[in-house]
Amino acid sequence: MTDLRTVVSEIAQEMAGRSERGTVAHYIPELACVDPARFGIAVMLADGTQIAAGDCDEPFSIQSVSKVFTLTLALGKVGDGLWRSVGREPSGNAFNSIVQLEQEQGRPRNPFINAGALVVTDTILSGHQPREALGEILRFLHFITGDDGIGIDEAVAASEKQTGYRNAALANYMKSFGVLDNPVAHVLGVYFHHCAIAMSCRQLASATRYLAFLGRNPDTGHSVISVERARRINALMLTCGHYDGSGEFAFRVGLPGKSGVGGGIIAVVPGIASVAVWSPGLDPVGNSRLGTEALEMLARRMHWSVFG
Ligand code: GLN
Repeated sequence: MTDLRTVVSEIAQEMAGRSERGTVAHYIPELACVDPARFGIAVMLADGTQIAAGDCDEPFSIQSVSKVFTLTLALGKVGDGLWRSVGREPSGNAFNSIVQLEQEQGRPRNPFINAGALVVTDTILSGHQPREALGEILRFLHFITGDDGIGIDEAVAASEKQTGYRNAALANYMKSFGVLDNPVAHVLGVYFHHCAIAMSCRQLASATRYLAFLGRNPDTGHSVISVERARRINALMLTCGHYDGSGEFAFRVGLPGKSGVGGGIIAVVPGIASVAVWSPGLDPVGNSRLGTEALEMLARRMHWSVFG
């Protein structure tokens, strides 16, 4: 079998030398300061071994990758009732698009576009103060990684709050349809803060493990979520995890994955590994340009695919 260590280190070397790296997200001013030359990768196997390279220990803003963890929590809280207020179809639109909301009575297409993630955040928030809801999200990440050091980058949260006009528009618009239960300011506050969670590739690969191993932690055998739910979250990552680039990602990489505008991507190789990559430069759809390429190389060289 191809040696995973060799593949991972060759990918990191190759990416370090690339000049075309995409463009860092500018609409969140704090993210515009991130050095586009960074690249990190971490692969975590069933036995807990981590094979990592590049800036794999450097925390970065996980942004929309957090939507996978908030979806997991919201499903844990309200179960399939969540699907009354959010759909499960690819949107074919930008992550921050508002156009479909009017035609579809404020019910977002899926939980990974911003509108859908705001509904998910609203669900977690119900019955709690914003601080408690954030505490719950962080506690979940600490629990699944065994790492209490994971926290929020307050500068990024404040930066997005100052410029988050689109998300404010989406939340207000959905509120007008009665889709959000909590005050718009609370929903936005919790959303901006969970997007501003900072994690390294190693931490993210570890957090993604339960999705690669039937909803369980393969070390302890402890169940995080049911196998059915893990499968469904993976299905949503495959179909919707990269917004209007989801088809392209499935075509090129062939694994369930979720991107964020901080340049991170998590990917799931069912039964084999969880993966996290980070390169801050984005493609025009808002997905990490070199992160996608790195995953494409990894999947091709390791013969990893959910398509056989
Ligand atoms: N916090 C970002 C936003 O709402 C998340 C978007 C993303 O990562 N695609 O715009």
